[in-house]
Amino acid sequence: MNEQGLSEREIFSYLENAKSEDTDYYRVFSSMCTRPHKIAIEANRLFIEANLGDLGLFAGAHKLEQEVVRMLGNLLHASSIDVPSGGLCQSSVCGYLTTGGTESNIQAVRGMKNLVTAGKKEFKGTPNIVIPASAHFSFDKVADMMGIEVRRASLDSEFRVDMASVEKLINENTIGLVGIAGNTEFGQIDPIDKLSEVALENELFLHVDAAFGGFVIPFLEKPQPFDFKVPGVTSIAIDPHKMGLSTIPSGALLFRSPSFLDSLKVSTPYLTTKSQFTLTGTRSGASAAATCAVMKYLGYEGYRKNVQHCMELTSKIVEEARKLGFEPLIEPVMNVVALKVPNPDLVRERLLKKFGWNVSITRTPRALRLVLMPHNSPEDIELFLKDLKKVTAEIKSP
Ligand code: PLP
Repeated sequence: MNEQGLSEREIFSYLENAKSEDTDYYRVFSSMCTRPHKIAIEANRLFIEANLGDLGLFAGAHKLEQEVVRMLGNLLHASSIDVPSGGLCQSSVCGYLTTGGTESNIQAVRGMKNLVTAGKKEFKGTPNIVIPASAHFSFDKVADMMGIEVRRASLDSEFRVDMASVEKLINENTIGLVGIAGNTEFGQIDPIDKLSEVALENELFLHVDAAFGGFVIPFLEKPQPFDFKVPGVTSIAIDPHKMGLSTIPSGALLFRSPSFLDSLKVSTPYLTTKSQFTLTGTRSGASAAATCAVMKYLGYEGYRKNVQHCMELTSKIVEEARKLGFEPLIEPVMNVVALKVPNPDLVRERLLKKFGWNVSITRTPRALRLVLMPHNSPEDIELFLKDLKKVTAEIKSP
């Protein structure tokens, strides 16, 4: 740090310099985040100092958090849950706002572990969870932190988790299953209803990672079952900072039962509240305000239009790519496309270097991964395809 403070002008020139190196989401097909809605930005500014880690001091921001949890509960059919309202829960759902999918996934598994431990179940070995091979790398962090074995079930030909593989991996030490509703690489939805049957049969928890799909699937023309309507689902991760158009960091974790939240509690002797069930201590009230504002502003109709826009872009890119001879790995389920192109790593590198397009690559098999987000436009897609055609032709005959 410098000894004497810089002037405002110097600071802002310094900041603008740094900002000029950011991409501003222009020509970005690799991110599951997007520009926040302007209402979310305004709301965020209004609550910039609010700390949800000390709820007694920020009762207003806390109310907004509770309202978001209630609205998300409605979106995810928490009305089908039969638990008493009040106490830790908003109407029939319990949960809190996290920093994103990673924290939600960590806390969901921590809740499973704590509940099983409280039930004094004896394990013959290390407790384990069974997740799809397609699960987000946040589960590597779960494995690293939690003293839990993470078992990866294989996928079927459509990149959904293979149920036979899941059942084979369950043993006497299994505490829970994970299904993905909108996996990161392919946008595919695991068979949550079948996972639910297996979870109920074996008395296991079932966490659904809908970090991306949570603000997409409910607004598709034919939504697949993935939420609390499915009886075995015990928790859901959903991220307002992805397709929810809120500011970063905005995630949410919802539970079917208050016992989950209870199991996460630690006492907080010097705060205005006696206990805390969140992973982080200090939490952004600004994110709660942003999410609350954008959800109320857009409503179901606004999010439906948002998803419709992204799905139209998805259909357009697949249709036009097919004309160039590039097939998708699967018919897209949501606004994520994996395109089979020759030498995808080199294509990706050249698209970025020559034309400034940011795309990513799936792990297995390697394909060009494109996420069609609200910041993309039909014009972007036309330009992108022209450049893709040039780059692939060049690679074929260098
Ligand atoms: N889960 C899924 C399915 C994701 O796609 C992602 C991120 O893309 C995450 C979890 C992690 O979310 P975050 O980066 O907000 O922690």
